[in-house]
Amino acid sequence: MKNIHVLAIPYPAQGHVIPLMEAARCFTSNGLKVTFVNTEFTHKRVLSACPDINGSSDLMQMVSIADGMEPGDDRNDLGKLTKTMFQLMPTKLEELINDINKNDDEKITCIVADCYMGWISRVAQKMGIRLAVFCPSSSAVLAVVMSIQKLIDDEVINTNGLPLTDQTVQLSTSIPIMNPANFIWACVGDPTTNQIIFDFAILQGKEAAEAADYIICNSTMELETGVFTLFPKMLPIGPLLATNKSAKQVGHFWNEDSSCLRWLDQQPVCSVIYVAFGSFTIFDQLQFEELALALEDTNKLFLWVVRSGTSGSVDYVYPSGYMERIGTRGKIVNWAPQQEVLNHSSVACFVSHCGWNSTMEGVSNGVPFLCWPYFADQFFNKTYICDIWKTGLGLNQDERGVVTREEIKSKVEQLLSNNILKENAMNMQEKVMDSGKLSSKNLKKFIDWVKEGN
Ligand code: UDP
Repeated sequence: MKNIHVLAIPYPAQGHVIPLMEAARCFTSNGLKVTFVNTEFTHKRVLSACPDINGSSDLMQMVSIADGMEPGDDRNDLGKLTKTMFQLMPTKLEELINDINKNDDEKITCIVADCYMGWISRVAQKMGIRLAVFCPSSSAVLAVVMSIQKLIDDEVINTNGLPLTDQTVQLSTSIPIMNPANFIWACVGDPTTNQIIFDFAILQGKEAAEAADYIICNSTMELETGVFTLFPKMLPIGPLLATNKSAKQVGHFWNEDSSCLRWLDQQPVCSVIYVAFGSFTIFDQLQFEELALALEDTNKLFLWVVRSGTSGSVDYVYPSGYMERIGTRGKIVNWAPQQEVLNHSSVACFVSHCGWNSTMEGVSNGVPFLCWPYFADQFFNKTYICDIWKTGLGLNQDERGVVTREEIKSKVEQLLSNNILKENAMNMQEKVMDSGKLSSKNLKKFIDWVKEGN
């Protein structure tokens, strides 16, 4: 029997793989076949954290292609990774598609490409395959990318993406005001990294977004109405959460430690501070200690994800006697089943780096945030949380650039005693879940479009 076959390909980072896998599962549950293409490095990590994933559905196959990096290279060096992928992957992808297409019943008729892997649009065009783009960040961030020419014309940025002004800008009256210093490509790393990201991920992403028939977004109409009104080919299909379907989240790079769910079961309702900073954030030892001591000083229950074993991360040392002092009041894990954690009634608030997935997961569960953005789009996501939705507070650094234990403790206390923030968070949850109905309609519209192409 002939399958309607989609090829889905994420940027090789945790926050991109998880939501695209969730979208892919939505496609297979609507009868589409999906070949999910990770880089070899990512593929191994995903399979090692979840060995059953390949047999989980007849309609989903996980495959891989090389990213061009050497085995020991640091894949957290996003500049090097992005540029190297661009040099090798287009040829590898073409070979893979040619190979799959040898079987007439399996021909790929649509590519769903991460918007930060824009080079894929040229492969799709060359091979005559329809293209849709997937946006794993906030849609407002992609709206900025799609407005680059206007930003250049208005002298907000130069042709290299460098901000020319410290004045805030607004793409339309219904889109939040933005600070050009917080544009995604302006705060990924050092100037060289930022430039590579601008040239290879952002400008090509813009090209792909323009070429694509549809841009499907892990967002909802309610959260980003202004953006979806300005760019009608952007379709919100979110929130893409496994917990919405009582399923387990897939695509993790680390083994999740579910003992924290049993620990949460034993804690009172709305009593636990959940602290997690996604897959990239790295603290130095001083900042790590300040956070550890702040959590101790709050005298509250906390669940804290302290990732280990990533290249580029430091081996954190806990303050002397720390574990004994916190005893069972604090639970520390290497990687949590985050969606289930945020869905747990014991969780009171989320100390977060404001990655877009964490943001969507927190909002969808009515959890107020303490925002501690680290890089890229996270500064803008904080604006949504603190200034637009008003469901969280931000942390301030001192003159050394450190967020002190006193600052953390004081903001946690303010957050937990602020009923308005909690109420706002609950209201946002309700609105987001309501607009899930429109997201389902959009998903159907998208699937129908994919089917038409056969
Ligand atoms: N995550 C998780 N367990 C953890 C920390 C994070 O499952 O202990 C998941 C989280 O649910 C989210 C993703 O990893 O889906 C991180 O994506 P996000 O966009 O928040 O941040 P990034 O890792 O891209 O900085």
